[in-house]
Amino acid sequence: MQHSLNTPVAIAYGDGIGPEIMRSTLEILQAAGARIDFQEIEVGEKQYLKGHTSGISPEAWQVLRSTKVFLKAPITTPQGTGYKSLNVTIRKSLGLFANVRPCMSYHPFITTHHPEMDVVIIRENEEDLYAGIEHQQTDEVTQCLKLISKPGIEKIVRFAFEYARVYGRKKVSCFTKDNIMKITDGLFHRMFDEIGNEYPEIKKEHYIVDIGAARLADTPEIFDVVVMPNLYGDILSDVAAQITGSVGLGGSANIGSACAMFEAIHGSAPDIAGQDVANPSGILLGAVQMLVYIGQHDVAQKIHNAWLKTIEDGIHTRDIFREGKSKVQVGTRLFTKAVIERLGEVPQQLPAVTYTMEGDKKITISMPVPKISKKELVGVDVFLHWNKDDRNPEVLGNQVSKYKAGHFALNMITNRGVKVYPGGIPETFCTDHWRCRFVADAPGKYAEVLELCGQLSQEGFDIIKTENLYNFDGKAGYSLGQGQ
Ligand code: NAD
Repeated sequence: MQHSLNTPVAIAYGDGIGPEIMRSTLEILQAAGARIDFQEIEVGEKQYLKGHTSGISPEAWQVLRSTKVFLKAPITTPQGTGYKSLNVTIRKSLGLFANVRPCMSYHPFITTHHPEMDVVIIRENEEDLYAGIEHQQTDEVTQCLKLISKPGIEKIVRFAFEYARVYGRKKVSCFTKDNIMKITDGLFHRMFDEIGNEYPEIKKEHYIVDIGAARLADTPEIFDVVVMPNLYGDILSDVAAQITGSVGLGGSANIGSACAMFEAIHGSAPDIAGQDVANPSGILLGAVQMLVYIGQHDVAQKIHNAWLKTIEDGIHTRDIFREGKSKVQVGTRLFTKAVIERLGEVPQQLPAVTYTMEGDKKITISMPVPKISKKELVGVDVFLHWNKDDRNPEVLGNQVSKYKAGHFALNMITNRGVKVYPGGIPETFCTDHWRCRFVADAPGKYAEVLELCGQLSQEGFDIIKTENLYNFDGKAGYSLGQGQ
């Protein structure tokens, strides 16, 4: 039996502008001689409407798991709580932990305030608020859990430094909000420092995300590789792509240890769908990242250089067209034709790209053996839905402090994180959601927590949830109340 030497790749045309930009990309890949067997799957809106709440059918999963490489056009996620984001589901189910988003300017051919910009955003792709664990707990209060794990950080931070090493980048910057989220973002920052020390030839720096974002938007040329937790990376990679000239220019690779997915940074742009005006560059550059990943460096280089030449020749879609700078405004189809006509050519002023086998050594991440700490139960936060007595914290505090079990006794009450008992001030606005912190005078047992909750429940208190407080190797694994 004869086997095809082509690489199998799953593709999905997506929604909105997805089909137009995917067709454009496939035409260019074919004309450039990409050695790929495409296997089409349907994901997105139509699948949601057929009742697959995550936007993908079981058969499509089988295809993805067999090809392990996926080129995906953007899809529309329907609004409403009944649907889960397909993008998030695929990234997490296939373990695509690293999202790589190169954002560079093409000055002077594409108008940008940042002619020197050449930044690669490396976004953590599986954790953070994208764990998608959300609840409404009381009439007034909702929550979303932000989960950040040591192995999750280890993988993404190591990936960022390895990426910098393989691609000859000089500096890795990390953005977190660890001045506020000292446990979750604090862990990310600390591990960034520790892992960074293993790469002495690469500069490293940390910014609080607010000032980091401001600098990235204002002086992106000072950055090289930037690694971030999921939400900041999601937001700031759109900012970074947009300030290169258009969000339509950015490609994105989602890399895991066994599978990878390639796409555009932008969404399905329903406002311009079906009008032949969409810029196909984002998904095309995503496809170039894919070609490098599957070892077809020759084809990647040919397409990328033809694309650069097209940009340099001033053949621009509407989003990047500027009177006086661009030569012709074209639609998606004519842009595609222009790239195909330039296959084999290289840009004259923009730097031509070279992809080599060495340049794309697969980045391998070895994980350390998990460390088990000594864990002690030292308290419990009991969350109550309470709406009585004008929401006076003194009244609640005086009632709740009567309850004790084993080592546990009331230490404080907070409302949205601010301490309101004992010693609160009347100016603090209180919702119907109260966290009552009981602490133990010596390591306690979970049975005591249950006993305490039993007493509170018996007295008619509405317990929404409890959160145990632990010390790990003697260090507190929980935050203080604001004002405590
Ligand atoms: P969007 O990125 O689709 O569009 C934002 C703006 O940028 C729009 O004005 C649009 O016209 C423009 N734009 C985007 N891509 C362009 C291109 N290639 N050429 C020219 N202009 C382009 O963001 P949105 O409007 O917030 O989201 C629309 C839908 O896309 C939503 O359903 C969202 O959930 C989904 N989405 C999907 C993905 C994905 O599949 N990876 C990513 C982000 C958003």
